[in-house]
Amino acid sequence: MVHQDVEIAIIGAGIVGIAAAYYLAAAGRRVALVEAGQPMALTSAQSGENYRNWWPHPVMTELTDRSITLMEAIARETGDRIAMTRRGYALATRRARPDDLIDQLQVGYGAEAAARVRIHEGTGGGYRPPVSADWQTAPDGVDVLLDRALIRRTFPSFSPDIAAVVHIRRAGSIGSQQMGQFMLERIREAGGRLVRGRVAGIARDSGFALDLDGPGRRGLIRADAIVNAAGPYAAGIAAMLGETLPITNVLQQKITFEDREGAVPRAMPFSIDLDGQSIDWGEEERQALAADPDHAWLARPMPGSIHCRPEGGDGGRWIKLGWAYNRGPSEPVPAPEFDPHFPEVVLRGASRLNPALRTYYGRLPRPCVLYGGYYTMTPENWPLIGPMGTPGAYMAVALSGFGTMAACAAGELCARWLTGAPLPAHAGPLGLARYADRALMDELASMESKGVL
Ligand SMILES: Cc1cc2nc3c(=O)[nH]c(=O)nc-3n(C[C@H](O)[C@H](O)[C@H](O)COP(=O)(O)OP(=O)(O)OC[C@H]3O[C@@H](n4cnc5c(N)ncnc54)[C@H](O)[C@@H]3O)c2cc1C
Repeated sequence: MVHQDVEIAIIGAGIVGIAAAYYLAAAGRRVALVEAGQPMALTSAQSGENYRNWWPHPVMTELTDRSITLMEAIARETGDRIAMTRRGYALATRRARPDDLIDQLQVGYGAEAAARVRIHEGTGGGYRPPVSADWQTAPDGVDVLLDRALIRRTFPSFSPDIAAVVHIRRAGSIGSQQMGQFMLERIREAGGRLVRGRVAGIARDSGFALDLDGPGRRGLIRADAIVNAAGPYAAGIAAMLGETLPITNVLQQKITFEDREGAVPRAMPFSIDLDGQSIDWGEEERQALAADPDHAWLARPMPGSIHCRPEGGDGGRWIKLGWAYNRGPSEPVPAPEFDPHFPEVVLRGASRLNPALRTYYGRLPRPCVLYGGYYTMTPENWPLIGPMGTPGAYMAVALSGFGTMAACAAGELCARWLTGAPLPAHAGPLGLARYADRALMDELASMESKGVL
């Protein structure tokens, strides 16, 4: 029987719980991470490991900008153990003048928009193409490319009908497993512990008594304060405290395979086709799908935001494709079932932006790894970070499809709430307090994009 007394128990050792423990340990707090499985093995193992500071609202821009600054500090400190790259995000559309997108950039970058957003109407004076992956020399801000010749030159694999590209420059990829590992080492060095076991119940006394249910053992952890960082199971932890959180879980999938034909240039940034489409099925396939009630939706118009990126650096050969079109919430299960049609669906969808991918129609190279996990989200797609309703209980939850990129700032913010350190301006809107702010909630409800990618 495990019986331990700790100052702060963090429930969940995914990247978010680990980051909270890391910043708490750095502030001199005695922490224990309580984990039902292996650290970094649930949602955090499924991440595409992409980051960007592009959001439709300045609060989320601030959160991710802060997080990127913290990740850069770790990259610097560790000699880039977290394999940070920064070729940007390239958001492509066939619309010649996407004023709504440009307006979104202005809103999302707030007071800094004028300094950050650069519009290139001509062939590229002043535009720096993403030749290098080095994050330390990459430009900041956003380049909006409105000239087809410049787009063709910079993104030669894109379909010639692409008329505008929004190139977010403070964006790229990181090795999130390496970041989690680095943080775990630092937590241990600071005296923090990892306790294996599933929190099955929480009782209140002067603090919290966590009832542990582990493989072959039961236990109890006493803590003065707790942090709910249970990812897809965060609502269940809240329920143990008699609280309800406005979060749901939506399953999203990806594929990765070896790009044997070299369809995607290795220097291509993380690229997103923003436009909706009807998937490129042959006429017979389309008719068969349309006649099948379970799959007829695949023959109908689909939303945009299909993504594609080279995986494994400039010398690698693999690519990743994703399309977060699922909107239906589900109960989280440890090993969700994936849609066997997804690989061919996402391949055909992604071929619209990178037509050379058509070479793989009906013959995706083996192995083609189909994987995924839950976007744990609030309706407005903002996380919940800060105090819960129960005194002494805190949370860092609902990090949807951005938990890798936002983990550092979410962990730091959660630690600030716990230690009483000064809070940044975005602390209030990212906590439960936002639901009492009618003006903010109306503003969020009226926004066209929630930043889901
Ligand atoms: C397909 C996909 C692609 C993604 N791509 C990106 C991306 O490119 N960039 C990005 O920034 N983000 C991305 N994300 C999002 C990111 O992966 C998540 O937001 C992040 O991993 C969430 O981390 P977490 O620590 O909150 O949750 P998790 O990693 O799920 O960790 C929660 C932990 O809590 C533990 N736990 C739960 N209940 C209990 C309990 N009762 N007792 C003890 N332990 C418990 C679990 O075992 C688990 O280890 C993606 C997500 C998915 C699904």
